[in-house]
Amino acid sequence: MEDLKNYVRSVPDFPKPGILFYDITTLLMDPVGFKKALDEMEQFVRSKNADKIISIESRGFVFGAALADRLHLGLITARKPGKLPYRTISEEYNLEYGTDSLEIHSDAVTKGEKVVVVDDLIATGGTLKAVCKMIERLGGEVAGISVVIDLSFLPWREKLAGYDVHYLISYDSEKV
Ligand code: AMP
Repeated sequence: MEDLKNYVRSVPDFPKPGILFYDITTLLMDPVGFKKALDEMEQFVRSKNADKIISIESRGFVFGAALADRLHLGLITARKPGKLPYRTISEEYNLEYGTDSLEIHSDAVTKGEKVVVVDDLIATGGTLKAVCKMIERLGGEVAGISVVIDLSFLPWREKLAGYDVHYLISYDSEKV
């Protein structure tokens, strides 16, 4: 799977100085790269016998939607505040400076449902943790977490201890 790195572009100083941004638009633009990523994620999600996939705004939607179609599973969208029209629940998480939050519809998960969480990249794990909390608040079970990119030099493992986290490629330092 390491060759998937050939499809990911690293952009220094985006969105602000000092951040190395891992850009998956180049992977999405290549039908071979995108299919490789989806094939691998599909295997993991299938092995979880989940009822639904939950994807995180906005790059997570691309992978989550394709996987939901491949596996014939329902898709939940976790969105930035104020975007979902019906009753919602929300969870805050920490950013480098300040906080942000995500929402899902309060009827998106029903008691006992198994849900796999899908996003493009895991950094501190705060975003994924917030989504896991919302699933559990609604009585669902987090069956697993699937992302394309792991930033292994960041301490997400502690935050997501107990969850089965699957990723396709790892970067172990902030180098281009
Ligand atoms: P975190 O909550 O710290 O795990 O951040 C994960 C979210 O932020 C994901 O939805 C990513 O899309 C985005 N993100 C964080 N750091 C980066 C990065 N270096 N390159 C690209 N996306 C990032």
